[in-house]
Amino acid sequence: MNDGFCEWWRKTEFGSRMKRTIFENKRQADCWRHFHQVAGIQDGTPKVMCKQCCHVLHHPADGHRGTSSMRKHIQGPSCRRESSQGNDIRTLLQEKAHSAPQKATFTHQAWIEGVISFITALRLPFQLVEHPQFHALIKIARLAPSFPEIPSAYTVRRQLREMVQERQQSLLLRLPKGAKLSIALDC
Ligand SMILES: [Zn+2]
Repeated sequence: MNDGFCEWWRKTEFGSRMKRTIFENKRQADCWRHFHQVAGIQDGTPKVMCKQCCHVLHHPADGHRGTSSMRKHIQGPSCRRESSQGNDIRTLLQEKAHSAPQKATFTHQAWIEGVISFITALRLPFQLVEHPQFHALIKIARLAPSFPEIPSAYTVRRQLREMVQERQQSLLLRLPKGAKLSIALDC
């Protein structure tokens, strides 16, 4: 078995309870040729996966079950029926990777509902949707080659502070030496 797998498994709920790594045992029975040794992702429960049809069974070492269920499986009708697909773990994973997170398709209805949810959840004024800054923001996001990273509140605050300081400096540089500036704020 792969070292990385065994290392991960020893830290799982199941693996940490076992004194030995059951995956390291040399397998004598012929039916082992047809199975991969795998484990539940949540708790590390050991399993075996049929190389032909990817059906998952209990691992014989989990509760000393023996290999009869594995033999029965590879000779049984359910395995042969699906074996024509010739799946192994790698192709299965590739298929899953391709079919996994499908890009959500855009619909006008979903977009309108998204805008409504955004405004109502944050209790924003309806006028927001007509504000040029809102339109400009959407346009900038559309220019991104992939989904743009949304900055954290901390980053926004820090960047704002930096922007204000930069603009203050550039304004001051534009003023002639010795000039005085009077600012009146109405807030
Ligand atoms: Zn099978």
